[in-house]
Amino acid sequence: RTWGWSLAGELRQAAARDPGRPAVIDEDGVELTYHELLDRAERMARSMRAGLGVQAGDRIGVLCRNHHGLIETIVAATLLGADAVLVNTGLSAAQLGTVTEEQRLRLLVHDDEFAERVLGLPAELTRLDERAREELVAGALPGDLHPPERDGRIIVLTSGTTGTPKGARRPTPGGFGPLVSIIDRIPLHARDRVMIAAPIFHTWGFAALQVCLALRATIVLHRRFDPTATLAALTAHRCNALFAVPVMLQRLLEVPPPDPRPPLTVVAVSGSALPGGLASTFMDVYGDVIYNLYGSTEVSWASIADPRDLRQAPTTAGRPPHGTRLQILDDDGQPVPDGQVGRIFVGNEMLFEGYTSGANRETRDGLLDTGDLGRLTADGLLFVDGRADDMIVSGGENVFPSEVEDLLAQLPQVREAAVIGVPDPDYGQRLSAFLALHPGETLDPEAVREYVRHFLARFSVPRDVIFVKYLPRNATGKVLTRELRRYYG
Ligand code: ATP
Repeated sequence: RTWGWSLAGELRQAAARDPGRPAVIDEDGVELTYHELLDRAERMARSMRAGLGVQAGDRIGVLCRNHHGLIETIVAATLLGADAVLVNTGLSAAQLGTVTEEQRLRLLVHDDEFAERVLGLPAELTRLDERAREELVAGALPGDLHPPERDGRIIVLTSGTTGTPKGARRPTPGGFGPLVSIIDRIPLHARDRVMIAAPIFHTWGFAALQVCLALRATIVLHRRFDPTATLAALTAHRCNALFAVPVMLQRLLEVPPPDPRPPLTVVAVSGSALPGGLASTFMDVYGDVIYNLYGSTEVSWASIADPRDLRQAPTTAGRPPHGTRLQILDDDGQPVPDGQVGRIFVGNEMLFEGYTSGANRETRDGLLDTGDLGRLTADGLLFVDGRADDMIVSGGENVFPSEVEDLLAQLPQVREAAVIGVPDPDYGQRLSAFLALHPGETLDPEAVREYVRHFLARFSVPRDVIFVKYLPRNATGKVLTRELRRYYG
Protein backbone atom coordinates (compact mmCIF):
# COMPACT_ATOMS: atom_id res chain seq x y z
CA ARG A 1 0.00 0.00 0.00
CA THR A 2 1.03 3.60 -0.55
CA TRP A 3 -0.06 6.78 1.19
CA GLY A 4 -2.17 7.83 -1.81
CA TRP A 5 -4.21 10.99 -2.03
CA SER A 6 -5.18 11.30 1.59
CA LEU A 7 -4.74 14.27 3.83
CA ALA A 8 -1.82 12.41 5.41
CA GLY A 9 -0.35 11.65 1.98
CA GLU A 10 -0.72 15.30 1.03
CA LEU A 11 1.07 16.49 4.13
CA ARG A 12 3.87 13.93 3.70
CA GLN A 13 4.46 15.20 0.16
CA ALA A 14 4.49 18.80 1.33
CA ALA A 15 6.89 18.02 4.19
CA ALA A 16 9.23 16.13 1.83
CA ARG A 17 9.33 18.83 -0.81
CA ASP A 18 9.04 21.99 1.25
CA PRO A 19 10.08 21.07 4.81
CA GLY A 20 11.04 24.55 5.97
CA ARG A 21 8.03 26.36 4.58
CA PRO A 22 5.64 27.81 7.22
CA ALA A 23 2.53 25.60 7.22
CA VAL A 24 0.37 27.00 10.02
CA ILE A 25 0.36 30.23 11.96
CA ASP A 26 -2.32 30.36 14.59
CA GLU A 27 -3.73 32.73 17.13
CA ASP A 28 -2.11 30.81 19.99
CA GLY A 29 1.23 32.08 18.67
CA VAL A 30 2.16 28.67 17.29
CA GLU A 31 4.04 28.71 14.01
CA LEU A 32 4.92 25.35 12.42
CA THR A 33 6.77 24.47 9.25
CA TYR A 34 5.53 21.63 7.05
CA HIS A 35 8.20 19.39 8.54
CA GLU A 36 7.15 20.28 12.09
CA LEU A 37 3.45 19.86 11.38
CA LEU A 38 3.97 16.37 9.95
CA ASP A 39 6.35 15.46 12.77
CA ARG A 40 3.81 16.48 15.42
CA ALA A 41 0.97 14.64 13.66
CA GLU A 42 3.14 11.51 13.40
CA ARG A 43 4.05 11.69 17.08
CA MET A 44 0.42 12.07 17.99
CA ALA A 45 -0.46 9.07 15.80
CA ARG A 46 2.24 6.91 17.40
CA SER A 47 1.06 7.84 20.90
CA MET A 48 -2.56 7.19 20.00
CA ARG A 49 -1.61 3.75 18.71
CA ALA A 50 0.78 2.78 21.52
CA GLY A 51 -0.89 4.47 24.47
CA LEU A 52 -4.57 4.43 23.57
CA GLY A 53 -4.72 1.42 21.27
CA VAL A 54 -6.22 3.34 18.35
CA GLN A 55 -6.43 1.14 15.26
CA ALA A 56 -7.44 1.38 11.63
CA GLY A 57 -11.21 1.67 11.41
CA ASP A 58 -11.68 3.42 14.77
CA ARG A 59 -13.56 6.69 14.85
CA ILE A 60 -12.02 9.75 16.45
CA GLY A 61 -14.22 12.74 17.17
CA VAL A 62 -12.65 16.16 16.72
CA LEU A 63 -14.41 19.00 18.54
CA CYS A 64 -12.04 21.88 17.85
CA ARG A 65 -12.02 25.39 16.56
CA ASN A 66 -9.49 26.42 13.89
CA HIS A 67 -5.96 25.92 15.24
CA HIS A 68 -2.90 23.75 14.60
CA GLY A 69 -4.15 21.01 16.96
CA LEU A 70 -7.22 20.44 14.80
CA ILE A 71 -5.08 19.79 11.72
CA GLU A 72 -2.68 17.55 13.66
CA THR A 73 -5.53 15.47 15.06
CA ILE A 74 -7.18 14.92 11.67
CA VAL A 75 -3.86 13.97 10.10
CA ALA A 76 -2.90 11.71 13.03
CA ALA A 77 -6.19 9.83 12.69
CA THR A 78 -5.76 9.28 8.97
CA LEU A 79 -2.11 8.21 9.46
CA LEU A 80 -3.48 5.28 11.49
CA GLY A 81 -6.32 4.51 9.07
CA ALA A 82 -8.82 5.75 11.65
CA ASP A 83 -11.76 7.97 10.66
CA ALA A 84 -11.82 11.58 11.82
CA VAL A 85 -15.36 12.72 12.63
CA LEU A 86 -15.42 16.51 12.42
CA VAL A 87 -17.88 17.71 15.01
CA ASN A 88 -19.68 21.03 14.72
CA THR A 89 -18.64 23.22 17.68
CA GLY A 90 -22.19 24.57 17.90
CA LEU A 91 -23.71 21.25 18.99
CA SER A 92 -25.44 21.07 22.37
CA ALA A 93 -24.41 18.56 25.06
CA ALA A 94 -27.41 16.40 24.09
CA GLN A 95 -26.52 16.49 20.37
CA LEU A 96 -22.92 15.56 21.27
CA GLY A 97 -24.31 12.54 23.09
CA THR A 98 -26.27 11.46 20.01
CA VAL A 99 -23.27 11.98 17.75
CA THR A 100 -20.96 10.01 20.10
CA GLU A 101 -23.37 7.10 20.05
CA GLU A 102 -24.35 7.17 16.38
CA GLN A 103 -20.77 7.60 15.20
CA ARG A 104 -19.49 5.02 17.71
CA LEU A 105 -16.68 7.40 18.73
CA ARG A 106 -13.73 5.76 20.47
CA LEU A 107 -11.94 8.96 21.34
CA LEU A 108 -12.89 12.62 21.46
CA VAL A 109 -10.24 15.31 21.09
CA HIS A 110 -11.72 18.60 22.24
CA ASP A 111 -10.74 22.18 22.99
CA ASP A 112 -10.70 23.22 26.64
CA GLU A 113 -13.61 25.58 26.12
CA PHE A 114 -15.89 22.56 25.53
CA ALA A 115 -14.78 20.74 28.71
CA GLU A 116 -18.12 21.30 30.40
CA ARG A 117 -20.17 20.27 27.39
CA VAL A 118 -18.42 16.89 27.11
CA LEU A 119 -18.74 16.12 30.85
CA GLY A 120 -21.95 14.11 30.51
CA LEU A 121 -20.74 11.88 27.67
CA PRO A 122 -20.47 8.13 28.36
CA ALA A 123 -17.59 7.26 30.72
CA GLU A 124 -16.10 4.74 28.27
CA LEU A 125 -15.39 7.51 25.75
CA THR A 126 -11.78 8.68 26.15
CA ARG A 127 -11.69 12.46 26.12
CA LEU A 128 -8.54 14.45 25.43
CA ASP A 129 -8.36 18.12 26.27
CA GLU A 130 -5.62 20.45 25.00
CA ARG A 131 -3.05 19.37 27.59
CA ALA A 132 -3.69 15.69 26.97
CA ARG A 133 -3.36 16.28 23.22
CA GLU A 134 -0.07 18.08 23.76
CA GLU A 135 1.17 15.22 25.97
CA LEU A 136 0.50 12.75 23.16
CA VAL A 137 2.74 14.80 20.89
CA ALA A 138 5.46 15.32 23.51
CA GLY A 139 5.51 11.78 24.86
CA ALA A 140 5.65 9.81 21.64
CA LEU A 141 8.02 6.86 21.43
CA PRO A 142 10.15 6.53 18.32
CA GLY A 143 8.86 4.18 15.64
CA ASP A 144 7.72 3.96 12.09
CA LEU A 145 4.30 4.52 10.67
CA HIS A 146 3.44 2.43 7.66
CA PRO A 147 0.52 3.05 5.33
CA PRO A 148 -2.48 1.59 7.20
CA GLU A 149 -4.45 -1.35 5.78
CA ARG A 150 -7.37 0.97 5.11
CA ASP A 151 -7.60 4.66 4.28
CA GLY A 152 -8.74 6.82 7.15
CA ARG A 153 -11.91 8.64 6.17
CA ILE A 154 -13.08 12.12 6.97
CA ILE A 155 -16.65 12.23 8.18
CA VAL A 156 -18.23 15.65 8.12
CA LEU A 157 -21.43 16.23 10.05
CA THR A 158 -24.14 18.21 8.29
CA SER A 159 -24.99 21.41 10.15
CA GLY A 160 -28.25 20.04 11.41
CA THR A 161 -30.12 23.08 10.06
CA THR A 162 -32.92 20.69 9.19
CA GLY A 163 -32.69 18.24 12.11
CA THR A 164 -30.15 16.01 13.85
CA PRO A 165 -26.71 16.33 12.25
CA LYS A 166 -25.99 13.48 9.86
CA GLY A 167 -22.50 12.07 9.30
CA ALA A 168 -21.44 12.30 5.65
CA ARG A 169 -18.44 10.30 4.48
CA ARG A 170 -16.14 12.41 2.33
CA PRO A 171 -14.59 10.59 -0.63
CA THR A 172 -10.84 10.26 -1.01
CA PRO A 173 -10.29 11.92 -4.38
CA GLY A 174 -8.67 9.64 -6.93
CA GLY A 175 -6.33 12.35 -8.18
CA PHE A 176 -5.82 16.03 -8.76
CA GLY A 177 -9.27 16.55 -10.37
CA PRO A 178 -10.94 18.39 -7.48
CA LEU A 179 -7.93 20.61 -6.91
CA VAL A 180 -7.67 21.46 -10.59
CA SER A 181 -11.38 22.29 -10.68
CA ILE A 182 -10.77 24.96 -8.02
CA ILE A 183 -7.48 26.47 -9.12
CA ASP A 184 -8.69 26.50 -12.70
CA ARG A 185 -11.34 29.02 -11.64
CA ILE A 186 -9.83 30.75 -8.60
CA PRO A 187 -6.38 32.34 -8.90
CA LEU A 188 -4.74 30.41 -6.05
CA HIS A 189 -1.11 29.42 -6.36
CA ALA A 190 1.48 27.22 -4.74
CA ARG A 191 2.85 28.87 -1.58
CA ASP A 192 0.01 31.36 -1.19
CA ARG A 193 -0.69 32.79 2.26
CA VAL A 194 -4.26 31.93 3.14
CA MET A 195 -6.48 32.63 6.10
CA ILE A 196 -9.15 29.98 6.64
CA ALA A 197 -11.84 31.76 8.64
CA ALA A 198 -14.61 29.29 7.76
CA PRO A 199 -14.72 26.57 10.42
CA ILE A 200 -12.63 23.60 9.30
CA PHE A 201 -15.13 21.16 10.84
CA HIS A 202 -17.53 22.22 8.08
CA THR A 203 -17.22 20.91 4.50
CA TRP A 204 -16.24 24.31 3.18
CA GLY A 205 -13.47 24.92 5.70
CA PHE A 206 -12.26 21.36 5.27
CA ALA A 207 -12.20 21.78 1.46
CA ALA A 208 -10.11 24.92 2.05
CA LEU A 209 -7.69 22.94 4.20
CA GLN A 210 -7.31 20.26 1.50
CA VAL A 211 -6.63 22.91 -1.13
CA CYS A 212 -4.11 24.71 1.10
CA LEU A 213 -2.16 21.54 1.91
CA ALA A 214 -2.08 20.54 -1.75
CA LEU A 215 -0.75 24.01 -2.65
CA ARG A 216 1.65 23.98 0.30
CA ALA A 217 0.20 27.29 1.32
CA THR A 218 0.87 29.02 4.63
CA ILE A 219 -2.38 28.70 6.58
CA VAL A 220 -3.38 31.41 9.07
CA LEU A 221 -5.99 30.38 11.66
CA HIS A 222 -7.96 32.09 14.40
CA ARG A 223 -10.08 30.16 16.87
CA ARG A 224 -13.07 32.48 16.51
CA PHE A 225 -13.99 34.92 13.82
CA ASP A 226 -13.67 38.54 14.85
CA PRO A 227 -13.76 41.15 12.05
CA THR A 228 -11.16 43.53 13.47
CA ALA A 229 -8.73 40.75 14.45
CA THR A 230 -9.22 39.08 11.06
CA LEU A 231 -8.37 42.27 9.16
CA ALA A 232 -5.31 42.82 11.36
CA ALA A 233 -4.13 39.21 10.82
CA LEU A 234 -4.65 39.42 7.06
CA THR A 235 -2.38 42.46 6.97
CA ALA A 236 0.17 41.23 9.52
CA HIS A 237 0.61 37.86 7.79
CA ARG A 238 0.34 39.32 4.28
CA CYS A 239 -2.49 36.96 3.32
CA ASN A 240 -3.51 37.07 -0.31
CA ALA A 241 -6.51 34.80 0.15
CA LEU A 242 -9.35 34.43 2.64
CA PHE A 243 -11.77 31.50 2.86
CA ALA A 244 -14.93 32.58 4.66
CA VAL A 245 -18.70 32.24 4.88
CA PRO A 246 -20.92 35.06 3.57
CA VAL A 247 -21.97 36.47 6.95
CA MET A 248 -18.28 37.08 7.75
CA LEU A 249 -18.08 39.47 4.79
CA GLN A 250 -21.04 41.35 6.23
CA ARG A 251 -19.23 41.63 9.58
CA LEU A 252 -15.98 42.75 7.90
CA LEU A 253 -17.86 45.61 6.27
CA GLU A 254 -19.12 46.80 9.66
CA VAL A 255 -15.62 47.77 10.84
CA PRO A 256 -13.43 50.43 9.22
CA PRO A 257 -11.14 49.05 6.51
CA PRO A 258 -7.52 49.10 7.62
CA ASP A 259 -4.99 51.35 5.96
CA PRO A 260 -3.17 49.93 4.08
CA ARG A 261 -5.71 47.31 2.96
CA PRO A 262 -4.66 43.66 3.26
CA PRO A 263 -3.13 42.41 0.00
CA LEU A 264 -6.16 40.24 -0.84
CA THR A 265 -6.66 38.90 -4.34
CA VAL A 266 -9.09 36.08 -3.45
CA VAL A 267 -11.97 36.02 -0.98
CA ALA A 268 -13.75 32.71 -1.48
CA VAL A 269 -17.11 32.17 0.22
CA SER A 270 -19.52 29.26 0.43
CA GLY A 271 -21.88 27.52 2.84
CA SER A 272 -24.93 29.72 2.43
CA ALA A 273 -26.37 32.14 -0.11
CA LEU A 274 -24.55 35.42 -0.73
CA PRO A 275 -27.13 38.10 0.17
CA GLY A 276 -28.02 40.49 -2.67
CA GLY A 277 -25.78 43.56 -2.74
CA LEU A 278 -23.09 42.11 -0.45
CA ALA A 279 -20.69 41.10 -3.24
CA SER A 280 -20.77 44.53 -4.89
CA THR A 281 -20.45 46.45 -1.62
CA PHE A 282 -17.53 44.28 -0.49
CA MET A 283 -15.78 44.55 -3.84
CA ASP A 284 -16.21 48.35 -3.85
CA VAL A 285 -14.14 48.42 -0.65
CA TYR A 286 -11.68 45.53 -1.12
CA GLY A 287 -11.48 45.21 -4.91
CA ASP A 288 -12.75 42.53 -7.31
CA VAL A 289 -11.82 39.55 -5.17
CA ILE A 290 -14.97 37.56 -4.38
CA TYR A 291 -15.48 33.98 -5.53
CA ASN A 292 -18.86 32.52 -4.57
CA LEU A 293 -18.98 28.72 -4.43
CA TYR A 294 -22.24 26.86 -4.26
CA GLY A 295 -22.05 23.47 -2.62
CA SER A 296 -23.03 21.33 0.33
CA THR A 297 -21.75 18.61 2.61
CA GLU A 298 -23.02 16.10 0.06
CA VAL A 299 -21.64 17.55 -3.19
CA SER A 300 -18.66 19.66 -1.98
CA TRP A 301 -18.57 22.48 -4.52
CA ALA A 302 -20.78 22.42 -7.59
CA SER A 303 -20.41 25.89 -9.11
CA ILE A 304 -18.15 28.91 -8.82
CA ALA A 305 -18.89 32.57 -9.57
CA ASP A 306 -15.89 34.82 -10.19
CA PRO A 307 -15.75 38.59 -9.62
CA ARG A 308 -16.80 39.27 -13.22
CA ASP A 309 -19.88 37.08 -12.88
CA LEU A 310 -20.71 38.79 -9.58
CA ARG A 311 -20.33 42.30 -11.01
CA GLN A 312 -22.77 41.25 -13.73
CA ALA A 313 -25.20 39.38 -11.42
CA PRO A 314 -24.43 39.92 -7.69
CA THR A 315 -26.31 36.85 -6.41
CA THR A 316 -25.20 34.31 -9.00
CA ALA A 317 -23.54 31.06 -7.98
CA GLY A 318 -21.65 31.07 -11.29
CA ARG A 319 -20.84 28.06 -13.42
CA PRO A 320 -19.92 24.43 -12.72
CA PRO A 321 -16.14 23.94 -12.64
CA HIS A 322 -14.24 21.50 -14.81
CA GLY A 323 -15.38 17.93 -14.12
CA THR A 324 -18.79 18.83 -12.67
CA ARG A 325 -22.14 18.14 -14.36
CA LEU A 326 -25.06 20.23 -13.19
CA GLN A 327 -28.65 19.93 -14.39
CA ILE A 328 -31.93 21.53 -13.44
CA LEU A 329 -34.65 18.88 -13.55
CA ASP A 330 -38.43 18.96 -13.15
CA ASP A 331 -40.44 16.58 -10.95
CA ASP A 332 -40.35 13.94 -13.71
CA GLY A 333 -36.58 14.11 -13.96
CA GLN A 334 -36.62 16.02 -17.26
CA PRO A 335 -34.31 19.01 -17.85
CA VAL A 336 -36.22 22.31 -17.65
CA PRO A 337 -35.70 25.09 -20.24
CA ASP A 338 -33.22 27.92 -19.48
CA GLY A 339 -34.51 30.41 -16.94
CA GLN A 340 -37.05 28.02 -15.42
CA VAL A 341 -36.86 26.87 -11.83
CA GLY A 342 -36.27 23.21 -11.06
CA ARG A 343 -34.33 20.95 -8.72
CA ILE A 344 -30.55 21.15 -8.90
CA PHE A 345 -28.78 17.83 -9.58
CA VAL A 346 -24.99 17.55 -9.49
CA GLY A 347 -22.40 14.99 -10.48
CA ASN A 348 -18.67 15.26 -9.75
CA GLU A 349 -15.72 13.37 -8.29
CA MET A 350 -16.37 14.81 -4.86
CA LEU A 351 -19.87 13.50 -4.14
CA PHE A 352 -20.14 12.11 -0.63
CA GLU A 353 -20.25 8.36 -0.19
CA GLY A 354 -23.47 8.22 1.80
CA TYR A 355 -24.47 9.03 5.35
CA THR A 356 -22.92 6.96 8.11
CA SER A 357 -26.48 5.93 9.01
CA GLY A 358 -26.56 4.00 5.71
CA ALA A 359 -29.08 6.39 4.10
CA ASN A 360 -28.29 8.20 0.87
CA ARG A 361 -29.65 10.96 -1.35
CA GLU A 362 -31.64 10.34 -4.50
CA THR A 363 -29.58 10.14 -7.68
CA ARG A 364 -30.61 10.28 -11.32
CA ASP A 365 -28.26 9.24 -14.04
CA GLY A 366 -25.29 9.56 -11.65
CA LEU A 367 -26.37 13.02 -10.53
CA LEU A 368 -27.21 13.69 -6.89
CA ASP A 369 -30.31 15.55 -5.78
CA THR A 370 -29.08 18.61 -3.88
CA GLY A 371 -32.51 19.37 -2.41
CA ASP A 372 -32.10 22.92 -3.72
CA LEU A 373 -34.15 24.74 -6.34
CA GLY A 374 -32.52 26.97 -8.90
CA ARG A 375 -32.26 28.04 -12.51
CA LEU A 376 -29.67 28.44 -15.24
CA THR A 377 -29.59 31.42 -17.58
CA ALA A 378 -29.06 31.01 -21.34
CA ASP A 379 -25.40 31.96 -20.88
CA GLY A 380 -24.91 29.31 -18.21
CA LEU A 381 -25.04 31.23 -14.93
CA LEU A 382 -26.62 29.39 -12.00
CA PHE A 383 -28.98 31.06 -9.53
CA VAL A 384 -29.83 29.12 -6.38
CA ASP A 385 -33.29 29.98 -5.07
CA GLY A 386 -32.95 27.99 -1.84
CA ARG A 387 -33.92 24.66 -0.40
CA ALA A 388 -37.05 23.09 -1.87
CA ASP A 389 -38.24 22.55 1.73
CA ASP A 390 -38.01 26.28 2.50
CA MET A 391 -40.19 27.35 -0.42
CA ILE A 392 -43.31 29.12 0.79
CA VAL A 393 -46.66 28.41 -0.86
CA SER A 394 -48.95 31.34 -0.09
CA GLY A 395 -52.44 31.37 -1.62
CA GLY A 396 -51.23 28.79 -4.14
CA GLU A 397 -48.29 30.93 -5.28
CA ASN A 398 -44.66 29.91 -4.76
CA VAL A 399 -42.37 32.37 -3.01
CA PHE A 400 -38.65 31.93 -2.37
CA PRO A 401 -37.58 33.48 0.94
CA SER A 402 -34.25 34.50 -0.65
CA GLU A 403 -35.96 36.78 -3.17
CA VAL A 404 -37.73 38.75 -0.44
CA GLU A 405 -34.72 38.62 1.92
CA ASP A 406 -32.45 40.09 -0.76
CA LEU A 407 -34.87 42.93 -1.34
CA LEU A 408 -35.28 43.67 2.37
CA ALA A 409 -31.50 43.62 2.86
CA GLN A 410 -31.25 46.52 0.38
CA LEU A 411 -33.14 48.84 2.77
CA PRO A 412 -30.47 51.11 4.27
CA GLN A 413 -31.82 50.63 7.81
CA VAL A 414 -31.64 46.81 7.59
CA ARG A 415 -28.56 44.97 8.82
CA GLU A 416 -29.92 41.50 8.06
CA ALA A 417 -33.22 39.91 7.07
CA ALA A 418 -34.77 36.45 7.11
CA VAL A 419 -38.14 35.37 5.76
CA ILE A 420 -40.07 32.21 6.67
CA GLY A 421 -43.51 30.82 5.85
CA VAL A 422 -45.90 30.37 8.77
CA PRO A 423 -49.27 28.56 8.76
CA ASP A 424 -52.18 30.80 7.83
CA PRO A 425 -55.87 29.90 7.96
CA ASP A 426 -56.71 31.80 4.76
CA TYR A 427 -53.62 31.40 2.56
CA GLY A 428 -52.13 28.11 3.74
CA GLN A 429 -48.93 29.97 4.52
CA ARG A 430 -48.10 33.64 4.94
CA LEU A 431 -44.73 35.37 4.89
CA SER A 432 -43.11 36.47 8.09
CA ALA A 433 -40.06 38.77 7.87
CA PHE A 434 -37.53 39.04 10.71
CA LEU A 435 -35.46 42.19 10.50
CA ALA A 436 -32.37 43.17 12.47
CA LEU A 437 -31.74 46.89 12.02
CA HIS A 438 -28.50 48.85 12.20
CA PRO A 439 -27.98 50.49 15.60
CA GLY A 440 -30.22 53.52 16.14
CA GLU A 441 -32.44 52.82 13.10
CA THR A 442 -36.21 52.34 13.14
CA LEU A 443 -38.70 51.19 10.50
CA ASP A 444 -42.45 51.10 10.28
CA PRO A 445 -43.85 47.64 9.35
CA GLU A 446 -46.27 49.18 6.88
CA ALA A 447 -43.40 51.04 5.17
CA VAL A 448 -41.63 47.69 4.82
CA ARG A 449 -44.70 46.11 3.20
CA GLU A 450 -45.15 49.11 0.92
CA TYR A 451 -41.52 48.82 -0.19
CA VAL A 452 -41.85 45.11 -1.03
CA ARG A 453 -45.18 45.73 -2.80
CA HIS A 454 -43.41 48.20 -5.04
CA PHE A 455 -40.99 45.53 -6.38
CA LEU A 456 -42.67 42.16 -5.99
CA ALA A 457 -46.02 40.46 -6.45
CA ARG A 458 -48.73 40.85 -3.80
CA PHE A 459 -48.21 37.31 -2.49
CA SER A 460 -44.52 38.04 -1.79
CA VAL A 461 -45.32 40.80 0.71
CA PRO A 462 -44.64 39.75 4.33
CA ARG A 463 -47.77 40.16 6.40
CA ASP A 464 -45.80 39.82 9.61
CA VAL A 465 -42.80 42.09 10.15
CA ILE A 466 -40.87 41.32 13.32
CA PHE A 467 -37.91 43.31 14.61
CA VAL A 468 -35.12 41.40 16.34
CA LYS A 469 -31.71 42.37 17.72
CA TYR A 470 -29.87 39.78 15.64
CA LEU A 471 -30.70 36.68 13.61
CA PRO A 472 -29.92 33.32 15.22
CA ARG A 473 -27.20 31.64 13.16
CA ASN A 474 -25.30 28.37 13.30
CA ALA A 475 -21.51 28.12 13.39
CA THR A 476 -21.30 28.50 9.61
CA GLY A 477 -23.45 31.60 9.61
CA LYS A 478 -26.64 29.98 8.35
CA VAL A 479 -29.84 31.47 9.78
CA LEU A 480 -31.57 28.97 12.06
CA THR A 481 -35.14 29.17 10.82
CA ARG A 482 -36.33 26.69 13.44
CA GLU A 483 -35.33 29.24 16.09
CA LEU A 484 -37.35 31.89 14.26
CA ARG A 485 -40.36 29.55 14.21
CA ARG A 486 -40.28 29.49 18.00
CA TYR A 487 -41.62 33.04 17.90
CA TYR A 488 -44.92 31.46 16.86
CA GLY A 489 -44.81 28.95 19.74
P1 ATP B 1 -28.26 19.98 7.20
O1 ATP B 1 -28.34 19.09 5.99
O2 ATP B 1 -28.03 19.25 8.45
O3 ATP B 1 -29.41 20.91 7.26
P2 ATP B 1 -26.77 22.00 5.96
O4 ATP B 1 -27.41 21.57 4.68
O5 ATP B 1 -27.20 23.28 6.55
O6 ATP B 1 -26.93 20.85 7.01
P3 ATP B 1 -24.54 22.40 4.27
O7 ATP B 1 -24.37 21.11 3.58
O8 ATP B 1 -23.33 23.16 4.49
O9 ATP B 1 -25.21 22.12 5.66
O10 ATP B 1 -25.53 23.34 3.48
C1 ATP B 1 -25.55 23.32 2.08
C2 ATP B 1 -26.70 24.17 1.57
O11 ATP B 1 -26.38 25.57 1.75
C3 ATP B 1 -26.91 24.03 0.09
O12 ATP B 1 -27.70 22.90 -0.21
C4 ATP B 1 -27.58 25.36 -0.25
O13 ATP B 1 -28.94 25.33 0.12
C5 ATP B 1 -26.87 26.34 0.65
N1 ATP B 1 -25.72 26.99 -0.03
C6 ATP B 1 -24.41 26.70 0.13
N2 ATP B 1 -23.63 27.51 -0.62
C7 ATP B 1 -24.47 28.34 -1.29
C8 ATP B 1 -24.30 29.40 -2.24
N3 ATP B 1 -23.09 29.80 -2.64
N4 ATP B 1 -25.41 30.00 -2.73
C9 ATP B 1 -26.65 29.62 -2.32
N5 ATP B 1 -26.87 28.64 -1.43
C10 ATP B 1 -25.81 28.00 -0.91
